Amino acid sequence: MYIAVLLPSLLALFALYKNKITVSGTIAAWIMGIIITYVGGIYAFIALALTFFLTILSDKLKKKDRDEKRTIYQMFSNVLTATCALIIYYFKQSEIFIVMYYAVMGGSLADTLASSIGSLAKGKNINPLTFKKMNKGESGAVSSLGLSASFLGGFVIGAVYYLSGGDIVNYLIIIIMSALDSYADSVMGAYLQGKYKCSKCNKISEYKEHCGEKTTLIRGFNFINNDIVNLLSNIIVFITTYIVMIIK
Ligand SMILES: [Zn+2]
Repeated sequence: MYIAVLLPSLLALFALYKNKITVSGTIAAWIMGIIITYVGGIYAFIALALTFFLTILSDKLKKKDRDEKRTIYQMFSNVLTATCALIIYYFKQSEIFIVMYYAVMGGSLADTLASSIGSLAKGKNINPLTFKKMNKGESGAVSSLGLSASFLGGFVIGAVYYLSGGDIVNYLIIIIMSALDSYADSVMGAYLQGKYKCSKCNKISEYKEHCGEKTTLIRGFNFINNDIVNLLSNIIVFITTYIVMIIK
């Protein structure tokens, strides 16, 4: 129990020190971190910590539209679904929910790596459904580099599951489900997420404000932002992994 409080606390303090997450976001992540470590043990914590550190590292790669700290909404959209899988595990004690935890966590990391490493891609970016050419860096645009990076997320997080004594077939399921998360993220990013045009610099942005002025919606829905897309893709992986594990 002490370890379950101590380890997430160290992570939360580091996040505050690095100034990467808002205070409310840190508190939300801290509470979810305690639940994760208490129920899922040290390996579940390692998966969370790896996702956290690799996300910070990959943020450095990505040229951001604007410099920003991660908010409470971003923390919830990335960690809440994974936490729910472990809460269900606590009551049901079925391995299925452990696999779901790692799949969703791997998916969050896959998204992050696909967009940051993918932003370095020199080649053309394509639409995930029509395979038509898309502007680089636009929400939903897919590059072959980004696609490869999305498999890396599940590979890393699945390895933690495997090292904890997990089954090799489940490891493969975690890799595939994590990549599915990133793909679902791209499709919804391309079709549902609100895209805005800045009246000053004419750039297309995912934000409602750019260059200090309000932008105008040109595609998607204004109530669907990146956080909602992340949450939805996590829920898709949550459900799909459950179905796959049931019929396996
Ligand atoms: Zn602008």
